[in-house]
Amino acid sequence: MSRIAWAALAAGTVLLAGTAIAQQQVDWDKIQIKTTDLGNKTYMLEGQGGNITVAVGTDGIIMVDGQFAPLSDKIKAAIKAISPLPIKYMINTHFHGDHTGGNDNFAKDGVTIVAHDNIRLRLAAGTANGLTGAKTAPRPAEALPKQTYVGGQLTVEVGGRKATVTHVANAHTDGDSWVYFADANVLATGDVMNNNKRYQNIDFGNGGDIRGMLRATDAWLRVSNDNTKVVVGHGPLAKRADIAEYREMLLTSRDRIERLVREGKTEDQIVALRPLKDLDAKWAANDQAAVNHIRNVYNSFKRL
Ligand SMILES: [Zn+2]
Repeated sequence: MSRIAWAALAAGTVLLAGTAIAQQQVDWDKIQIKTTDLGNKTYMLEGQGGNITVAVGTDGIIMVDGQFAPLSDKIKAAIKAISPLPIKYMINTHFHGDHTGGNDNFAKDGVTIVAHDNIRLRLAAGTANGLTGAKTAPRPAEALPKQTYVGGQLTVEVGGRKATVTHVANAHTDGDSWVYFADANVLATGDVMNNNKRYQNIDFGNGGDIRGMLRATDAWLRVSNDNTKVVVGHGPLAKRADIAEYREMLLTSRDRIERLVREGKTEDQIVALRPLKDLDAKWAANDQAAVNHIRNVYNSFKRL
């Protein structure tokens, strides 16, 4: 999920457009945070927005993503119920508001926000969605990541725990990181993957590209085994087999649409051809989602 109309926040609500819960107003009071124990003092938290991973060390906590601002207090309470230790780091997997909305609420408690540097740039500048043109306003300085990296890997540590943060260039966005906790065999993918068995948004207007999403799945298949617990951006806990299945969908999508792009077909011509009809039956929630996926893949090859 990515397209957030922040203007509605003033009224205490937020409108989620272009998502599974499109046009639905969220009643934050009704959202509950569900905690799942993944073993080795590592947890998955679900509420509304991107899934959260929590890793507890001997002197502090590392968390991955933080959902929407109105949920910050509930998320803090859910983490307190796991451990009284302070949250030292929050890693942002990408800039979308359903993963970074709570940044400033956590930063004011002394949590260091860690992310790829493009997240800092995009949050500071504000963004526009490639499919809809919907604009997201710039975020205040307190919401920006304070510790950033530009490529390769970064290690984030608290006592006894280590998070390996890896950048994948141009995937769901241009600032994606995936996070691996080797000691718990837990992999957090961010929105480069969902486990709802649905097409995943590729935010081509902000550097997204299906080829990067494929590269990420290749890297995960190398790092994971059949016991790996995969915390995806959206949807239930996944396994390595889910990554492999998702990768096949990406691969077919890329191959067919890239061929049509190379033949010189326009975006609308490719949409009319419906080259993924067999996949749509399984992966498209509805007709609009099928069209959006074609447009997202097509535009992966047209990015500036
Ligand atoms: Zn996203």
